[in-house]
Amino acid sequence: MVQFDTIPDSNSASGSDRKDRKNKDKRSRDRTSAGEGRAPSQNGSHAIAERRSSVSKPARDFRDKPEPSPKKKRKTSATTAIVPVEEVESSTRSPSPVIDFDGLSRPSRGTRERLEETEKQKEERLERMKGAVRTLLECVGEDPDREGLLATPERYAKAMLFFTKGYQENVRDIVNGAIFQEGHNEMVIVKDIEIFSMCEHHLVPFTGKMHIGYIPANAVIGISKLPRIAELFARRLQIQERLTKEVANAIMEVLKPQGVAVVMESSHLCMVMRGVEKTTTSTITSCVLGCFERKEKTRNEFLSLIGVNRR
Ligand SMILES: [Zn+2]
Repeated sequence: MVQFDTIPDSNSASGSDRKDRKNKDKRSRDRTSAGEGRAPSQNGSHAIAERRSSVSKPARDFRDKPEPSPKKKRKTSATTAIVPVEEVESSTRSPSPVIDFDGLSRPSRGTRERLEETEKQKEERLERMKGAVRTLLECVGEDPDREGLLATPERYAKAMLFFTKGYQENVRDIVNGAIFQEGHNEMVIVKDIEIFSMCEHHLVPFTGKMHIGYIPANAVIGISKLPRIAELFARRLQIQERLTKEVANAIMEVLKPQGVAVVMESSHLCMVMRGVEKTTTSTITSCVLGCFERKEKTRNEFLSLIGVNRR
Protein backbone atom coordinates (compact mmCIF):
# COMPACT_ATOMS: atom_id res chain seq x y z
CA MET A 1 0.00 0.00 0.00
CA VAL A 2 2.81 2.33 0.91
CA GLN A 3 4.51 1.59 -2.36
CA PHE A 4 1.30 2.19 -4.20
CA ASP A 5 1.10 5.58 -2.57
CA THR A 6 4.62 6.62 -3.51
CA ILE A 7 4.32 5.74 -7.18
CA PRO A 8 1.50 8.08 -8.09
CA ASP A 9 3.20 10.66 -5.90
CA SER A 10 6.40 10.61 -7.93
CA ASN A 11 4.39 10.60 -11.12
CA SER A 12 2.51 13.68 -10.13
CA ALA A 13 5.80 15.32 -9.13
CA SER A 14 7.38 14.72 -12.52
CA GLY A 15 4.17 15.85 -14.10
CA SER A 16 4.35 19.15 -12.31
CA ASP A 17 8.05 19.38 -13.25
CA ARG A 18 7.11 19.07 -16.86
CA LYS A 19 4.49 21.74 -16.41
CA ASP A 20 7.11 23.99 -14.81
CA ARG A 21 9.46 23.47 -17.70
CA LYS A 22 6.70 24.19 -20.14
CA ASN A 23 5.93 27.38 -18.30
CA LYS A 24 9.60 28.38 -18.34
CA ASP A 25 9.79 27.73 -22.07
CA LYS A 26 6.74 29.80 -22.58
CA ARG A 27 8.16 32.58 -20.47
CA SER A 28 11.43 32.65 -22.36
CA ARG A 29 9.57 32.62 -25.63
CA ASP A 30 7.46 35.51 -24.45
CA ARG A 31 10.56 37.43 -23.44
CA THR A 32 12.14 36.89 -26.84
CA SER A 33 9.10 38.03 -28.66
CA ALA A 34 8.97 41.08 -26.43
CA GLY A 35 12.60 41.83 -27.34
CA GLU A 36 13.82 41.61 -23.75
CA GLY A 37 15.75 38.38 -23.55
CA ARG A 38 18.15 38.56 -26.46
CA ALA A 39 20.33 35.78 -25.13
CA PRO A 40 18.37 32.82 -26.51
CA SER A 41 18.07 34.21 -30.01
CA GLN A 42 21.74 35.19 -30.00
CA ASN A 43 22.69 31.70 -28.96
CA GLY A 44 20.64 30.33 -31.80
CA SER A 45 22.25 32.44 -34.47
CA HIS A 46 25.67 31.74 -32.99
CA ALA A 47 25.13 28.02 -33.29
CA ILE A 48 24.14 28.44 -36.93
CA ALA A 49 27.22 30.55 -37.62
CA GLU A 50 29.40 27.86 -36.11
CA ARG A 51 27.82 25.18 -38.20
CA ARG A 52 28.21 27.24 -41.35
CA SER A 53 31.91 27.84 -40.88
CA SER A 54 32.63 24.19 -40.27
CA VAL A 55 30.83 23.31 -43.47
CA SER A 56 32.56 25.95 -45.57
CA LYS A 57 35.98 24.86 -44.33
CA PRO A 58 37.47 21.79 -45.98
CA ALA A 59 37.14 18.79 -43.74
CA ARG A 60 40.45 17.51 -42.50
CA ASP A 61 41.79 14.20 -41.46
CA PHE A 62 41.71 13.97 -37.67
CA ARG A 63 45.44 13.39 -37.68
CA ASP A 64 45.99 16.69 -39.46
CA LYS A 65 45.92 18.65 -36.26
CA PRO A 66 47.40 22.03 -37.10
CA GLU A 67 50.20 23.07 -34.83
CA PRO A 68 50.13 26.52 -33.29
CA SER A 69 50.59 29.15 -35.97
CA PRO A 70 54.19 30.18 -36.68
CA LYS A 71 53.22 33.76 -35.82
CA LYS A 72 52.51 32.75 -32.24
CA LYS A 73 55.70 30.75 -32.08
CA ARG A 74 57.77 33.72 -33.08
CA LYS A 75 56.17 35.80 -30.37
CA THR A 76 57.01 33.31 -27.67
CA SER A 77 60.52 32.77 -28.96
CA ALA A 78 61.07 36.52 -28.87
CA THR A 79 60.36 36.53 -25.16
CA THR A 80 62.07 33.27 -24.28
CA ALA A 81 64.49 32.90 -27.21
CA ILE A 82 66.16 29.80 -25.86
CA VAL A 83 65.42 26.91 -28.19
CA PRO A 84 67.54 26.96 -31.36
CA VAL A 85 65.55 26.27 -34.50
CA GLU A 86 67.85 23.46 -35.64
CA GLU A 87 67.10 21.46 -32.54
CA VAL A 88 63.37 21.66 -33.02
CA GLU A 89 63.34 20.90 -36.72
CA SER A 90 64.28 17.46 -37.89
CA SER A 91 66.33 17.07 -41.05
CA THR A 92 63.32 15.80 -42.99
CA ARG A 93 60.96 18.54 -41.93
CA SER A 94 59.86 20.49 -44.92
CA PRO A 95 60.98 24.13 -44.77
CA SER A 96 57.58 25.06 -46.14
CA PRO A 97 55.76 25.54 -42.86
CA VAL A 98 52.32 25.36 -44.39
CA ILE A 99 52.48 21.78 -45.55
CA ASP A 100 53.97 20.26 -42.46
CA PHE A 101 52.15 22.37 -39.92
CA ASP A 102 48.94 21.30 -41.49
CA GLY A 103 50.05 17.71 -41.37
CA LEU A 104 49.48 17.33 -45.09
CA SER A 105 52.66 15.38 -45.54
CA ARG A 106 51.67 13.63 -42.36
CA PRO A 107 55.02 12.35 -41.23
CA SER A 108 54.05 10.30 -38.21
CA ARG A 109 56.73 8.89 -35.92
CA GLY A 110 56.89 5.69 -37.92
CA THR A 111 57.16 7.43 -41.27
CA ARG A 112 59.92 9.70 -40.02
CA GLU A 113 61.82 6.65 -38.81
CA ARG A 114 61.41 5.16 -42.26
CA LEU A 115 62.55 8.36 -43.90
CA GLU A 116 65.68 8.74 -41.80
CA GLU A 117 66.71 5.10 -41.45
CA THR A 118 70.26 3.89 -42.00
CA GLU A 119 71.14 0.97 -44.27
CA LYS A 120 71.30 -1.31 -41.23
CA GLN A 121 67.86 -0.21 -39.99
CA LYS A 122 66.53 -0.75 -43.49
CA GLU A 123 67.74 -4.35 -43.43
CA GLU A 124 66.22 -4.89 -39.99
CA ARG A 125 62.90 -3.53 -41.18
CA LEU A 126 62.92 -5.89 -44.16
CA GLU A 127 63.74 -8.85 -41.91
CA ARG A 128 60.84 -8.04 -39.59
CA MET A 129 58.47 -7.73 -42.52
CA LYS A 130 59.69 -11.02 -43.96
CA GLY A 131 58.99 -12.71 -40.63
CA ALA A 132 55.49 -11.30 -40.60
CA VAL A 133 54.75 -12.53 -44.12
CA ARG A 134 56.10 -15.97 -43.25
CA THR A 135 53.67 -16.06 -40.32
CA LEU A 136 50.85 -15.08 -42.65
CA LEU A 137 51.75 -17.91 -45.03
CA GLU A 138 51.76 -20.40 -42.18
CA CYS A 139 48.45 -19.10 -40.89
CA VAL A 140 46.66 -19.53 -44.21
CA GLY A 141 47.75 -23.17 -44.19
CA GLU A 142 50.72 -22.98 -46.53
CA ASP A 143 54.19 -24.38 -46.24
CA PRO A 144 56.48 -21.35 -46.38
CA ASP A 145 59.42 -23.63 -47.12
CA ARG A 146 58.11 -25.05 -50.36
CA GLU A 147 59.96 -23.92 -53.44
CA GLY A 148 57.38 -21.55 -54.84
CA LEU A 149 57.06 -19.62 -51.59
CA LEU A 150 60.70 -19.45 -50.53
CA ALA A 151 61.28 -15.93 -51.75
CA THR A 152 57.72 -14.73 -51.27
CA PRO A 153 58.22 -13.06 -47.87
CA GLU A 154 61.01 -10.90 -49.27
CA ARG A 155 59.14 -10.15 -52.49
CA TYR A 156 56.00 -9.19 -50.62
CA ALA A 157 57.87 -7.04 -48.10
CA LYS A 158 59.54 -5.13 -50.91
CA ALA A 159 56.28 -4.79 -52.79
CA MET A 160 54.56 -3.46 -49.67
CA LEU A 161 57.30 -0.89 -49.20
CA PHE A 162 56.78 0.19 -52.80
CA PHE A 163 52.99 0.41 -52.39
CA THR A 164 53.55 2.74 -49.46
CA LYS A 165 56.50 4.71 -50.77
CA GLY A 166 54.48 7.91 -50.47
CA TYR A 167 55.38 7.98 -46.80
CA GLN A 168 58.92 8.77 -47.82
CA GLU A 169 58.02 11.70 -50.05
CA ASN A 170 56.80 15.17 -49.37
CA VAL A 171 54.98 17.77 -51.42
CA ARG A 172 57.75 20.35 -51.37
CA ASP A 173 60.33 18.03 -52.93
CA ILE A 174 57.86 17.03 -55.61
CA VAL A 175 56.86 20.56 -56.54
CA ASN A 176 60.53 21.57 -56.41
CA GLY A 177 59.87 25.18 -57.32
CA ALA A 178 57.85 24.39 -60.45
CA ILE A 179 55.39 27.21 -59.85
CA PHE A 180 55.36 29.85 -62.55
CA GLN A 181 53.86 33.34 -62.49
CA GLU A 182 52.09 33.22 -65.84
CA GLY A 183 49.21 35.58 -65.21
CA HIS A 184 46.95 32.76 -66.33
CA ASN A 185 43.49 32.69 -64.78
CA GLU A 186 41.62 30.03 -66.78
CA MET A 187 40.72 26.57 -65.63
CA VAL A 188 43.45 23.94 -65.90
CA ILE A 189 42.43 20.28 -65.85
CA VAL A 190 44.46 17.10 -65.79
CA LYS A 191 42.13 14.16 -66.15
CA ASP A 192 42.34 10.37 -66.03
CA ILE A 193 45.31 10.20 -63.71
CA GLU A 194 45.79 6.53 -62.91
CA ILE A 195 45.72 5.81 -59.20
CA PHE A 196 46.87 2.70 -57.39
CA SER A 197 46.33 2.90 -53.67
CA MET A 198 45.87 0.60 -50.69
CA CYS A 199 42.72 0.39 -48.62
CA GLU A 200 43.79 0.90 -45.04
CA HIS A 201 40.98 -1.26 -43.71
CA HIS A 202 41.83 -4.42 -45.66
CA LEU A 203 45.33 -3.81 -47.04
CA VAL A 204 44.15 -4.61 -50.54
CA PRO A 205 44.37 -2.27 -53.51
CA PHE A 206 41.85 0.16 -54.84
CA THR A 207 42.49 1.52 -58.28
CA GLY A 208 40.91 4.12 -60.44
CA LYS A 209 41.19 7.51 -62.02
CA MET A 210 41.56 10.94 -60.57
CA HIS A 211 40.69 14.24 -62.24
CA ILE A 212 42.27 17.41 -60.94
CA GLY A 213 41.23 20.92 -61.91
CA TYR A 214 42.25 24.31 -60.63
CA ILE A 215 41.79 27.95 -61.47
CA PRO A 216 45.09 29.79 -61.06
CA ALA A 217 45.51 33.06 -59.29
CA ASN A 218 48.22 34.06 -61.80
CA ALA A 219 50.58 31.25 -60.77
CA VAL A 220 50.46 27.88 -62.53
CA ILE A 221 52.11 24.65 -61.44
CA GLY A 222 54.12 22.42 -63.76
CA ILE A 223 51.45 20.17 -65.22
CA SER A 224 53.32 16.94 -64.48
CA LYS A 225 53.38 17.84 -60.79
CA LEU A 226 49.66 17.21 -60.36
CA PRO A 227 49.83 13.46 -61.06
CA ARG A 228 52.90 13.27 -58.86
CA ILE A 229 51.11 14.91 -55.93
CA ALA A 230 48.26 12.46 -56.46
CA GLU A 231 50.78 9.60 -56.51
CA LEU A 232 52.38 10.77 -53.26
CA PHE A 233 49.13 10.53 -51.36
CA ALA A 234 47.97 7.38 -53.17
CA ARG A 235 51.09 5.44 -52.22
CA ARG A 236 50.06 5.31 -48.61
CA LEU A 237 47.44 3.41 -46.68
CA GLN A 238 44.32 5.31 -47.60
CA ILE A 239 40.62 5.60 -47.80
CA GLN A 240 39.40 7.16 -51.02
CA GLU A 241 37.65 10.04 -49.28
CA ARG A 242 40.80 11.16 -47.51
CA LEU A 243 42.99 10.65 -50.58
CA THR A 244 40.74 12.97 -52.60
CA LYS A 245 40.78 15.58 -49.86
CA GLU A 246 44.51 15.43 -49.26
CA VAL A 247 45.33 15.98 -52.93
CA ALA A 248 43.00 18.98 -53.09
CA ASN A 249 44.33 20.49 -49.89
CA ALA A 250 47.95 20.01 -50.90
CA ILE A 251 47.44 21.78 -54.22
CA MET A 252 45.51 24.54 -52.51
CA GLU A 253 48.35 25.12 -50.09
CA VAL A 254 51.39 24.92 -52.37
CA LEU A 255 49.85 26.88 -55.24
CA LYS A 256 47.24 29.09 -53.56
CA PRO A 257 44.97 29.14 -56.63
CA GLN A 258 41.46 30.57 -56.75
CA GLY A 259 40.11 27.07 -56.34
CA VAL A 260 40.81 23.36 -56.66
CA ALA A 261 38.51 20.49 -57.59
CA VAL A 262 39.42 16.83 -57.34
CA VAL A 263 37.18 13.96 -58.41
CA MET A 264 38.13 10.32 -58.11
CA GLU A 265 36.38 7.23 -59.43
CA SER A 266 37.70 3.89 -58.32
CA SER A 267 37.04 0.25 -57.77
CA HIS A 268 37.89 -1.30 -54.41
CA LEU A 269 39.18 -4.87 -54.41
CA CYS A 270 37.96 -5.29 -50.85
CA MET A 271 34.48 -4.74 -52.21
CA VAL A 272 34.94 -6.63 -55.48
CA MET A 273 36.71 -9.74 -54.16
CA ARG A 274 34.94 -10.11 -50.85
CA GLY A 275 31.99 -8.64 -48.98
CA VAL A 276 29.32 -7.52 -51.39
CA GLU A 277 31.21 -8.88 -54.47
CA LYS A 278 29.86 -6.38 -56.90
CA THR A 279 32.40 -6.21 -59.67
CA THR A 280 30.89 -3.30 -61.51
CA THR A 281 30.61 -0.82 -58.67
CA SER A 282 32.71 2.26 -58.74
CA THR A 283 33.06 4.73 -55.92
CA ILE A 284 33.16 8.42 -56.72
CA THR A 285 34.50 10.99 -54.29
CA SER A 286 35.06 14.67 -54.78
CA CYS A 287 36.56 17.60 -52.98
CA VAL A 288 36.01 21.18 -54.13
CA LEU A 289 37.75 24.14 -52.60
CA GLY A 290 37.77 27.89 -53.14
CA CYS A 291 35.82 29.16 -56.14
CA PHE A 292 34.74 25.61 -57.06
CA GLU A 293 32.99 25.42 -53.73
CA ARG A 294 31.45 28.88 -53.99
CA LYS A 295 30.34 28.94 -57.63
CA GLU A 296 28.05 26.28 -58.97
CA LYS A 297 28.76 27.37 -62.54
CA THR A 298 32.50 26.81 -62.15
CA ARG A 299 31.92 23.47 -60.53
CA ASN A 300 29.57 22.38 -63.32
CA GLU A 301 32.04 23.51 -65.96
CA PHE A 302 34.68 21.31 -64.37
CA LEU A 303 32.33 18.34 -64.07
CA SER A 304 31.21 18.58 -67.68
CA LEU A 305 34.82 18.91 -68.88
CA ILE A 306 35.86 15.75 -67.07
CA GLY A 307 32.67 14.09 -68.28
CA VAL A 308 31.25 13.06 -64.91
CA ASN A 309 27.81 14.65 -65.10
CA ARG A 310 27.22 13.52 -68.68
CA ARG A 311 26.20 10.05 -67.60
ZN1 LIG B 1 38.75 -2.03 -47.80
